[in-house]
Amino acid sequence: MSLLNDYITEPKIAYFSMEIGLRDEIPTFSGGLGILAGDTVKSAADLNLPFVPVTLMSKKGYFVQEIDDKGHQTEKPVIWDPSKLMKLAPEKVSVSIEGREVFIQAWIYFVESPRGSVVPVIYLDVDLPENNEKDRILTDHLYGGDNEYRIKQEVILGIGGVRMLKKLGFEIKKYHMNEGHAAFLTLELLHTFKKDIESVWDESHIWDTEAVKDLCVFTTHTPVEAGHDNFTHELYNQVFGDYFPLNVLKTLAGEKSVNMTLLGFNLSNFVNGVAKKHGEVSQNMFPGYEINAITNGVHSFTWTCASFKKIFDKYLPGWANEPEIFVRIGAIPDEEIWGAHSIAKKKLIDYVNSTTGSDMDYDTLTIGFARRATAYKRADLLFTDLKRLEKIGKGKIQIIYAGKAHPKDGIGKELIEKIYSYKEKLKGKIKITFVENYKMDIALDLVSGVDIWLNTPLRPLEASGTSGMKSAHNGVMNFSVLDGWWIEGHIEDFTGWAIGPAAKEVEPDNNMNAIDAEDLYVKLENKIIPKYYDDRKNWIRMMQNAIGKNAYYFNSHRMMRRYVTEAYIR
Ligand SMILES: *Cc1c(COP(=O)(O)O)cnc(C)c1O
Repeated sequence: MSLLNDYITEPKIAYFSMEIGLRDEIPTFSGGLGILAGDTVKSAADLNLPFVPVTLMSKKGYFVQEIDDKGHQTEKPVIWDPSKLMKLAPEKVSVSIEGREVFIQAWIYFVESPRGSVVPVIYLDVDLPENNEKDRILTDHLYGGDNEYRIKQEVILGIGGVRMLKKLGFEIKKYHMNEGHAAFLTLELLHTFKKDIESVWDESHIWDTEAVKDLCVFTTHTPVEAGHDNFTHELYNQVFGDYFPLNVLKTLAGEKSVNMTLLGFNLSNFVNGVAKKHGEVSQNMFPGYEINAITNGVHSFTWTCASFKKIFDKYLPGWANEPEIFVRIGAIPDEEIWGAHSIAKKKLIDYVNSTTGSDMDYDTLTIGFARRATAYKRADLLFTDLKRLEKIGKGKIQIIYAGKAHPKDGIGKELIEKIYSYKEKLKGKIKITFVENYKMDIALDLVSGVDIWLNTPLRPLEASGTSGMKSAHNGVMNFSVLDGWWIEGHIEDFTGWAIGPAAKEVEPDNNMNAIDAEDLYVKLENKIIPKYYDDRKNWIRMMQNAIGKNAYYFNSHRMMRRYVTEAYIR
């Protein structure tokens, strides 16, 4: 009797993602991509979709971040025990890596929706005694190791994942690749549909690309060239041997190298970016493909704090499964909105003060900035002119930061050190603190407990961004560069405030720092600070708009309904 007998009753949409962030206790995610995948899965469960996600075990997780008093980040492995949360399936499959047969097992985690449906998530794991030492570690580290480690992980995810689904008894009607990491699944599917050499008039027609395209959906997430996985042909030959002919692969994944995004594009009938602008940027990067846009969303129930859940339940019952009900936000009295916010703010400030030894207070306008520490997000933009910031903000603002830098991202690590140095420089003038080890529970406390959510990416590098959608669910307005989702969510002085010029396609240019910083200071001084302290009524009106206009739309239920109608059942 299989673990999954209850779940193999109808054909499924298989959702492949290198990382899936469902909860902190399953630490197999690093940032936005993983959290989005987790929110996708939760919405699929709530909406009762026939869904089966596949990901890697990442047994050592991403990492636990520790920071010394100079702002220097060190990484500790995450210790966790999958068997406490997941069930091990008895089935095993194998893939060939450098000619060795590498065995894969599957852990199943059941995502249960409060509405009763369940989505089984499959975590692939190669830490088995029958594998050699070198191979056993391949599902240890998320984004760890070098290109060789990465391509092997992607063989396990893409090829191993397709085989495991079959072995577990699933029939699959669509394969959705969440980013290029899983694109090798298309090669395995090409094998499944391979035609008899006698039945075709030319050898090149044995690979039925049309049949595979009909089954595949591909979502791209990054507008940065370097963000697309690329492997050399040498490495491909070394790892794959004669699994799939290189000359055919070149026609699908690029002449010069194995480009995983191209592979996904060429073998999917539906391709999309994750916000309208990102769809356009991707279209320009990859001319000749039809690239759609489905703007991301966040899982409303997950990303609403307790005090707001309470008033939503009271005035807007059903909101979690039908976030459109936020259209009735005006039904909630101002005092109750402010009350819910004050509870969230107190929780955050108490947490921050007790963990970082800072002395933040409940009444000061609090600005939050938390996301992966990486160059294009420009965590230091706020500090472009320290004197000016001091003049504008002394006694009027306090700032809370959080975010991990990838262990190999030197610039990201430097950004954290810079924030620590600014914190020292502004001591006694503006309270600044950095919360260690950004993860989901800290993210929820932050997005709900601050007054303003700041985002300063360098255009057009923020494909979507999702933390601002989380803040909107808690009545926290965005103050952000017009990039990613904010181009669609922003209405000036209504849902929040823009930083810098309107969105147009601009090359990353360092002049943007000065232009954006200027606008940031002007609006902080003339719009945001006065409104917070002197015009509470209209401040609360804007909080309502964040919920009624932004959370109303930027949720993963709306996103999933679009994937269903435009990508899955077309
Ligand atoms: C939401 C979230 C992110 C992504 O935030 P962005 O604004 O898209 O950068 C990253 N990490 C954690 C823990 C999150 O909850």
